[in-house]
Amino acid sequence: MLGGSAAHSFNKQYYQAIFDDVLARLYPTLCECGSICNRPMPSRPYTVRCPNCRKQNSKLSHTPFRNLRIPQWMAGYALEESVQRHPQVVTASELCRRLQINYRTALLLKRRIQLLATEQLEKIYPLIRKELAQAFPHDYRLPANGTDVREHTATSPVVHADTMALFSASQRANKGRKRHKNRGLTASIYMSERLGGRQIGTLCHVMGTRKGWVLIDSIPDLKANTVGPIIRKHIPRNAAIFTDEGYTWLYRIYPNHRMVNHSKKSGDRRFKYAADRWCQNGVHNQVSEGLNGSLKKAMRCYGYFRPEYSTLYLNEWAFFKNLRYFGLERLSQENPIAAEKGFDKVKCARGVIPSARVSAFGGNDPGGVSADGITLLALLPLHEPRRSRPHLPVFG
Ligand SMILES: [Zn+2]
Repeated sequence: MLGGSAAHSFNKQYYQAIFDDVLARLYPTLCECGSICNRPMPSRPYTVRCPNCRKQNSKLSHTPFRNLRIPQWMAGYALEESVQRHPQVVTASELCRRLQINYRTALLLKRRIQLLATEQLEKIYPLIRKELAQAFPHDYRLPANGTDVREHTATSPVVHADTMALFSASQRANKGRKRHKNRGLTASIYMSERLGGRQIGTLCHVMGTRKGWVLIDSIPDLKANTVGPIIRKHIPRNAAIFTDEGYTWLYRIYPNHRMVNHSKKSGDRRFKYAADRWCQNGVHNQVSEGLNGSLKKAMRCYGYFRPEYSTLYLNEWAFFKNLRYFGLERLSQENPIAAEKGFDKVKCARGVIPSARVSAFGGNDPGGVSADGITLLALLPLHEPRRSRPHLPVFG
């Protein structure tokens, strides 16, 4: 009904079903007897029952939706909208208006979805590695640098990598002077030294394939020591990588790395740049440029976010992109419990999903300065068994 309250204008059963489905696939509840609890209890929305021993277990514990204080269908709505709307995003203020809940509540719901995305991305990384290892076997080599590669890369998922600045601070970074300390993209995300020098923009490292997966990291600068480990963590050594001129050091690790010179000069005196400055011998960077545009357009909806939260926002976007490509079915198969591959019973004794623990306590963090702050400080309280209020001062 138009103009009615939010409670009337939603198909709550539908969104509840979506929420239950996502939860059962990504965070199945394990019973003490070893089987998966999958019997819903209509009179108790927070519990599921074991089909064998009939014991009731909590549906939401040890998931990002632990201790959820709003109706579960609202989380289902936020998830469904985020999936359907991708590459566009659902902002917290939109959830606040649409669901008629408080802004703080909407923001917390948004954070829960971001945590879900961050946690589930861990399952996507091995899928990407496997796909690349299949497409580029051990003896795969591109022809020598400078020869046409079009035939060799027409059907294979070539990795394109690029960097992009979000919310750049170019005006305030300069303070009237020429850039002097950091140059290029890095300069535009930091304030000038005299204004504190702190980071206000976000630098993203974007990797992806044509119509395929995407990997996005928030990075502090463009140095080889920052970007190198990120690439090495996700991309197998034989994969073909196309980048722009910013990756002059990458050929030492990746033999199939090719660069396109975007500022190639024309041989003709009438023109400054060469006609083939965007694509040389079939080497181009259009996929990551397209991803950059799509990501930039989506992130503009937020207006601004601080760099310490950037990993959450970028992970959310990357997760829904990858979810489109791999599908929920693939992801739930990656879950050791859902796939019944055999699991560590001691660790799972009280229904704790191993993936939740692994990502909560660091392991491989997504990289970047801001990511360090997020993994431990923001994730730990959600998965901690203790229920005290850490933000309140302790007296006595
Ligand atoms: Zn049981």
